[in-house]
Amino acid sequence: MKKKLIAGNWKMNGSLAANEALVTALIAGMVNTNCRVAVCVPAPYLQQVQRLVTGTAIELGAQDVSQHESGAYTGEVSAAMLRDFGTRYCLVGHSERRQYHGETDSTVAVKAQRALASGITPIVCVGETLEEREAGRTEEVVKRQLAAVIHTNGHCISELIVAYEPVWAIGTGKTATPEEAQQVHAVLRGQLRAATEQADRMFILYGGSMNAANAATLLSQSDIDGGLVGGASLKVPDFLSIVAAAQ
Ligand code: PEP
Repeated sequence: MKKKLIAGNWKMNGSLAANEALVTALIAGMVNTNCRVAVCVPAPYLQQVQRLVTGTAIELGAQDVSQHESGAYTGEVSAAMLRDFGTRYCLVGHSERRQYHGETDSTVAVKAQRALASGITPIVCVGETLEEREAGRTEEVVKRQLAAVIHTNGHCISELIVAYEPVWAIGTGKTATPEEAQQVHAVLRGQLRAATEQADRMFILYGGSMNAANAATLLSQSDIDGGLVGGASLKVPDFLSIVAAAQ
């Protein structure tokens, strides 16, 4: 059985002092951890957190990557730059990027490609809005988002991670029920199976108000291979409880 992956998304939170305290406490609390753990940190803190996690069980992730390789793209951070700081994972297409920065399915697909080309595992986020769910369009939306990534990345998709994050569950305290989440994960798994023979060894994470209380039941679903955790990843006891639930 594959080990679960719990990835924290710090979003635009943190400071040198807060990061050091958080990561140090996580390392101290992760004795005999039997799952994979990553923290996706704001780009300016990659170097600091790289130093803090080197030699520990925590892996380093970023929250975004440029769709361009290099050049006149002021403010952008390339995949090669992320790689320079030992970045192992990179979130791609988080709903906050799609919503506030106009990222389209094709931009997300190219970003995933850039990450893969630099040896970084993209964690590609897909998910429907509340309006789309209520209109019965969940399956159509997540399949469309994933199809763009499959189309652009071909057989390389076996190297990426998918995160199902219903937009209505992110930061709201509302979580998909384990059954609702499993249903969408099974759809995504089926889509991956049609694209690669490696689909069953790929990771599909659930994200959206995962917390200490709901993690165990979500993570016990057959197609949920881990969690992408926002708010709770900033609270040491909560994040450690989720990690413990993933054992
Ligand atoms: C996220 O930002 O990816 C996320 C899942 O956030 P939260 O856990 O706070 O809903």
